[in-house]
Amino acid sequence: IYILSIESSCDDTSAAILCNDKVLSNVVATQKIHEEYGGVVPELASRAHQQNIVPVVHQALKKANVTKDQLHAVAFTLGPGLMGSLLVGTSFAKSLAYGLNIPLIDVNHMQAHILAHFITEDGYKKPEFPFLAMTISGGHTQIVKVTSYFNMEVIGETIDDAVGEAYDKSGKILGLGYPAGPEIDKRAQLGNPKAFKFTKPKVEGLNFSFSGFKTAVLYFIQREVKENPNFIAENLNDICASIQYTIIGILMDKLKLAAKQTGIKHIAIGGGVSANSGIRKALKDGEQKFGWTTYIPKFEYTTDNAGMIGIVGYLKYLESDFAKQDVMASSRLKI
Ligand code: ATP
Ligand code: FE
Repeated sequence: IYILSIESSCDDTSAAILCNDKVLSNVVATQKIHEEYGGVVPELASRAHQQNIVPVVHQALKKANVTKDQLHAVAFTLGPGLMGSLLVGTSFAKSLAYGLNIPLIDVNHMQAHILAHFITEDGYKKPEFPFLAMTISGGHTQIVKVTSYFNMEVIGETIDDAVGEAYDKSGKILGLGYPAGPEIDKRAQLGNPKAFKFTKPKVEGLNFSFSGFKTAVLYFIQREVKENPNFIAENLNDICASIQYTIIGILMDKLKLAAKQTGIKHIAIGGGVSANSGIRKALKDGEQKFGWTTYIPKFEYTTDNAGMIGIVGYLKYLESDFAKQDVMASSRLKI
């Protein structure tokens, strides 16, 4: 079965071709325009999607050496995400499926961040049910109990900012570019994680909170810079390492609690922040420490990509779970 999948929920335009559960091509056009503004500008994102979508789809087909006539279905991101961005992918997918007279398949972006683990890749094992998935990204921070492909329950989530925002906003305070997650991660590996101390937010149960953390970083930096105007430049790696150490501590505390409460020891991560070297290491260490079996996605399936949309498309295709032509993009779609 050949599936073309489209992802356009935020600021990456992506198209992939899958043959069953294998990804033949996964093309991502990252929009550079937002760097100038230090964050995603929705209006500009929709325009860039419109510009990129046809070339990206062309390239995905070409790289996979598959023609349009060979496709069995078109899968696309229905939500959650920015409405203007979602509309571009949704309209394009509808028209293509209609033109080719093949099924259309709607995909939940957050389910896709989790089900990306079911793409067949050399050297990667697929999770065993039930498992816990911690989705950590630019817009979400959730712990999800996954009982089967389409039976998922959110058992904990952030009550304010997402963990990716904690990274990006801390980066902004430090004068780093957008998105700041990758650079903080790189610098963190060169710094001392115990150099500075940030308090962890107190949130009951399995929920998270990151808005207080961002404010703590802001006040700390303002205080230090008043004393020493070169504080940031002189301590950047240590600051990044300390920020990363605190964030990973917050994530791991909740994950440990979730594993304890549910008795589930199969643990997966997904979403853009799962590219982070610190969380990858902390999770891996959990195998020895807590007897977990852990699942860490291949790097290219962590941040937004159409490969993960395609695997959900394939799993839904097997169940003949198709969308109607009047389906509407949904910016607040829930799991
Ligand atoms: P959502 O999936 O919730 O709709 P999104 O699609 O915008 O949000 P992703 O593309 O999944 O988010 O993730 C982007 C986020 O991942 C950004 O906040 C970015 O800073 C963060 N990120 C990427 N790489 C790393 C890294 N190595 N360390 C920490 N954060 C990272
Ligand atoms: Fe995402």
